[in-house]
Amino acid sequence: MDFVVLLWILFAIVSAVAAYGKGRIPGWWLLLGFAIGPFALMSVLVLPKVGPLPNEITCPFCGEFIKNKATICRYCGQKQNNKEDFEFSCDATKKQK
Ligand SMILES: [Zn+2]
Repeated sequence: MDFVVLLWILFAIVSAVAAYGKGRIPGWWLLLGFAIGPFALMSVLVLPKVGPLPNEITCPFCGEFIKNKATICRYCGQKQNNKEDFEFSCDATKKQK
């Protein structure tokens, strides 16, 4: 019995993590995981990925979602120039003072 409860909790946690990875709300999927166990995990794995997370941007080269602090895309390996733009804008504000 304890094993089944642990397995159920594990399904809920894995569902929440998988949901977060697909840009979905992990809290809801954790609750759904507790309610329907393995079916929540199967559902979240089948569902497509939604838009970028708040800390992500879309890679201009391959269109995948990557961390906004990334200097190199983890999917296509292209160098991201968003960092240079940020540093440039910082230099510009320093020079104005
Ligand atoms: Zn890319």
